Amino acid sequence: MKKKLLLHSCCAPCSSAVIEKLQNDFDLTIYYYNPNIYPQAEFERRQNEQIAYCKKLGIDIIFGRYEPCEYDKAIKGMENMPEKSPRCYACYELRIQEVSKKAKEGGFDFFTTTLSISPHKNAQWINEIGKKFEFESCKFYEADFKKQNGYLRSLQLSKENGFYRQEYCGCEMSMLARKEKERGQTQDGGGL
Ligand code: SF4
Repeated sequence: MKKKLLLHSCCAPCSSAVIEKLQNDFDLTIYYYNPNIYPQAEFERRQNEQIAYCKKLGIDIIFGRYEPCEYDKAIKGMENMPEKSPRCYACYELRIQEVSKKAKEGGFDFFTTTLSISPHKNAQWINEIGKKFEFESCKFYEADFKKQNGYLRSLQLSKENGFYRQEYCGCEMSMLARKEKERGQTQDGGGL
């Protein structure tokens, strides 16, 4: 019998290649807990895409609460830091700690997250946090899913499935940074 793994997912596109990689070896359940996503309409759009993909694959999904104040509290004082800074470490930590608790409560053998599939995410931090929150009975599955063409595969699967692919990581600051970048490109002639 396969071991049970609770997979935290940030969005359907990132989950696609990770599910493909893990589903032969594990009995997977998706956990959608992302209070960092701003605004709520964007959260709902990403969550709905994840629901539809899980339904298509026949994979169970568990929903975490959407309480943006949990994220605000976790990154307090770091709002003005850029992407890939300690603000992101705190954001990973918030979500990974929650998935570890949920996995233990649910009797899962392992837990992990799709986050490391992104080239913008620090897999070393993610694995360090995961190991910190694992239990004797519920271990963190260490990975850097972007490796071995994992990121490329997620792009292929996103295209095949016609996924909505968001333009920014998730939080309000990343959304504003993206808009700022787009404005700069427009002023420079669209970056062409
Ligand atoms: S940029 Fe992404 S990882 Fe970093 S704090 Fe914002 S949502 Fe979290």
